Amino acid sequence: MKPNVAAAMAELSHLEIDENPATIRNKSRDFFWYSPVLKAEMDHLEADFVVNPKTEEEVIEVLKTCYKHDVPVTCRGGGTGNYGQAMPLAGGCVMHLTGMNKIKEIGAGYVVAEPGIIIKELDEELKKASGQEMRMIPSTASQASLGGFIAGGSGGVGSANWGALRDLGNIDRLRVITMEAEPRALEFTGEELHRVSHAYGTNGIITEIEMPLAPAYEWVDMFVRFDSFRTATEFAGQLAAEPGILIKLASVYAAPIAHKYFQRVKAHVTENDHLCGVMVAPQSMAGFQTLLSRYEGGEVIYRSDDVKWDRHPGPVFEYGWNHTTLRALKFEKDLTYLQVRYGDDIEKIMKAYETFKDDLYMHLEVMREGAGLSFAGLPIVFPKDKAQLDDLIAKHEAMGCMIFNPHRYTLEEGGRQSTDQRQLDFKREADPKGLLNPGKMIAWDEPDFDYADMYSYAKITPKPEA
Ligand code: FAD
Repeated sequence: MKPNVAAAMAELSHLEIDENPATIRNKSRDFFWYSPVLKAEMDHLEADFVVNPKTEEEVIEVLKTCYKHDVPVTCRGGGTGNYGQAMPLAGGCVMHLTGMNKIKEIGAGYVVAEPGIIIKELDEELKKASGQEMRMIPSTASQASLGGFIAGGSGGVGSANWGALRDLGNIDRLRVITMEAEPRALEFTGEELHRVSHAYGTNGIITEIEMPLAPAYEWVDMFVRFDSFRTATEFAGQLAAEPGILIKLASVYAAPIAHKYFQRVKAHVTENDHLCGVMVAPQSMAGFQTLLSRYEGGEVIYRSDDVKWDRHPGPVFEYGWNHTTLRALKFEKDLTYLQVRYGDDIEKIMKAYETFKDDLYMHLEVMREGAGLSFAGLPIVFPKDKAQLDDLIAKHEAMGCMIFNPHRYTLEEGGRQSTDQRQLDFKREADPKGLLNPGKMIAWDEPDFDYADMYSYAKITPKPEA
């Protein structure tokens, strides 16, 4: 089936379409360049056109028309994904959803919104209208959309208390449009949510989202300095574990990250200082101070409710999660990163810290996981080519650390490295021609793919002729 892009564009011409080459290029890109491997593999990718639907009816029209003319559709929110999720591997149509940005309902403990709303704007409105806020946001909240977070993200600021997006109760309901001759609108709750959440828009387009909320607080942002990486890590873990202390963020940056890459922090730390970035609810500050007093050398050097620094550092969460790497990249363009799951084993983290001293700087985020905690690692990795990165990943895996490989663009390799049968089954039902974000789901393209041979997958779906 050869896509007929011209016919699809002609039929959709009454919608808002971008044909300007610079806009198309711009909207065909996300943060894929975080990875030197993806940069080399994906830099050339470009859609044929970009459409900006404003309503669900327009989304249905785009999907129906592109289905008829066999045109691939890759959805885009804020375009901040760092696994190349929103890159149109097979060209065709990029459907840009930030025009679908209405808040439909705010109630006690929930919000219903369209997918294109920018998360920061949603959070500000929630706070103003109801004194509530999102349980968790990506550190890119000022640019990222709610739909992109659900379809491409995993958790973030708030996960120290609420766990990951995939945890039960962290998404209430999703409305999804299929890509068929007659697209259907389906409502998913409970077990069905996993069909489309974190599926990169490969099997349906999310047009309405109901999310649970938490009470909003004037969070106290702090930087806390430590002499030892172990103490900083133990403190961050215990802070998240304390049942009576409410926090939203507990990040650990091994020395010399803060001194080397955090411009507005640099004057207040040495290159030997290890730093924690935390967000604590105001009513929990007394408990926080008591806990900190139990950790040798722990010292609050910045707090947002009592700023003594000449230059305001901005929100502390914009130093955490993937922003740590972003700040480092501003200084050294060849750096990259990994995404690691260490679980709650601090000895394993210390072993990795010693073992990989010549390869990376440690950066940890504490997350609630089940009844306990897990440390997520987003270490800053010194310049490496593909083979060296694969080797570093293999060494981590040998140590029992799971890797969400950020140097691959497929769902499975960036995720749990296995077929998600629910997502695959739903793709068969909802996208029979395989036109939604093609090339991102290995299970669809290569059913016999051997995950034990993780590093051999390098196939890019060829761009069809227009
Ligand atoms: P996009 O990049 O536009 O899209 C992401 C994926 O979702 C794509 O596959 C796209 O096709 C699909 N998609 C978008 N909208 C829809 C829809 N309506 N229906 C179906 N599919 C759709 N991620 C985290 O989880 N936590 C973090 O803390 C975090 N921090 C980051 C920091 C930096 C500096 C960077 C570069 C990235 C970070 N990310 C993080 C990754 C990313 O920013 C988030 O996942 C963000 O929520 C993605 O939203 P977006 O609107 O930019 O999505």
